[in-house]
Amino acid sequence: MNRGGQWFAKFLFTGVLPILGLAVLAWLSHGPDWAWALAALAFACMALVRTRQLSLLAAWLDAPDGSELPDAGGAGGKVLRKLARKLRHDARSRQAVEERLRSFREAMDAVPDGLVILDSSHQIHWSNRAAGEHLGIRLPRDSGAIIEHLVRTPGFAEYLAGSDASAPFVLQSPAARTRVYTVRVVPLGERNKLLVSLDVTDARRVESMRSTFVANVSHELRTPLTVVSGFLEHFADDGVIDAEQRQQFARLMSDQTARMLTLVDDLLTLSRLEAEDAPASEEDVDMADLLAQLLAEGQSLSEGRHRLDVRCDGPAVRGNRKELHSAFGNLVSNAIRYTPAGGSIDIEWRVRDQVGAFSVRDSGVGIAAEHLPRVTERFYRVDRGRSRDTGGTGLGLAIVKHILLRHQASLAIESEVGEGSTFRVEFPAWRLKPAA
Ligand code: ADP
Repeated sequence: MNRGGQWFAKFLFTGVLPILGLAVLAWLSHGPDWAWALAALAFACMALVRTRQLSLLAAWLDAPDGSELPDAGGAGGKVLRKLARKLRHDARSRQAVEERLRSFREAMDAVPDGLVILDSSHQIHWSNRAAGEHLGIRLPRDSGAIIEHLVRTPGFAEYLAGSDASAPFVLQSPAARTRVYTVRVVPLGERNKLLVSLDVTDARRVESMRSTFVANVSHELRTPLTVVSGFLEHFADDGVIDAEQRQQFARLMSDQTARMLTLVDDLLTLSRLEAEDAPASEEDVDMADLLAQLLAEGQSLSEGRHRLDVRCDGPAVRGNRKELHSAFGNLVSNAIRYTPAGGSIDIEWRVRDQVGAFSVRDSGVGIAAEHLPRVTERFYRVDRGRSRDTGGTGLGLAIVKHILLRHQASLAIESEVGEGSTFRVEFPAWRLKPAA
């Protein structure tokens, strides 16, 4: 017997048959009128109980989760309890599904790539947070919108319509024009598509910096190489140049070769600094000793054309001596190269407010304010001619910046055209090592 049959049999044996039995007994003892009256009363009571159970059910269904099902008693009450249990179980399952859906959405929003689900007519069904940043798509506002109506970059609609989705499409974000994204379309099921966008701004910037750098290096090497190859052609053409000319050419070639060597040296230094995050070794660098060395080297470079002064009033610095010597030496050499004869250069080391400051002040040509933020870039020169004439490679301050970064030190530049410049390097207190 199925469950419906079981319930009917129960209803028959516990409800209808006892009433009929009582009615038969009443018929036999008191006659048919009593029997009919008793049966009618019993059935009316049954109907009343059922009506009450139904109204309780109706009231409970209005708030199935919030309140306990009232005990209606009897077989009807059992039905209600079973129904309540089933509804509660359904509610719990729904809650679990919603919980899982929420976790899934949170995970998708944490993905850095933009994801958009499109149907066959390119209507937006769903998208994650990154798609909002990359493509300007926001849900629920844009749910159901045609994506081509939102992303209006020329060529995007053709890309979506095209069959070759393997190659990515490059676009600038409609939201932030400075960023670049690639978009790829992946088939999803029978008719839907998944659009994936990637932020490639940084990769593109690195790529462009790399190609600019290669172009700069090639350009820097090309000039001396052209000069040297020109002289070599003259040498090959024997008999055309006399001994004096030959000597002059050899000297000029040697200058150009030295220039190339300096450039290669600086490039190697830069690449080594970029390859490692921190100096290989550190020690307590005696600043009085280092400043004396800088003074001697400066005087030799200046050849008496400038007045050089040194003031040292501070402790040792924890760092790599070779690197600090290279950084400070670059600043001193710049001061000499960009200061006309008769000018002065002051080199100083002192501690103020627990900050160790190394500074090189010159009375040279100075730097206009608009150039200041860029002078530490590789190959950036304010005056290309002057830099070359004095043997500059355009990499000095880039090397200084890298070394200081590795020593958690900062570089500040104050300058005025025609008045001079001050390059100040500041070390954090923990790098200062007062004598024991
Ligand atoms: P360079 O080899 O050309 O000197 P740097 O990286 O050392 O390259 O310096 C970058 C540019 O900053 C220089 O070309 C120059 O224009 C400017 N500069 C650097 N130091 C000074 C200074 N002390 N006075 C004036 N200009 C300077």
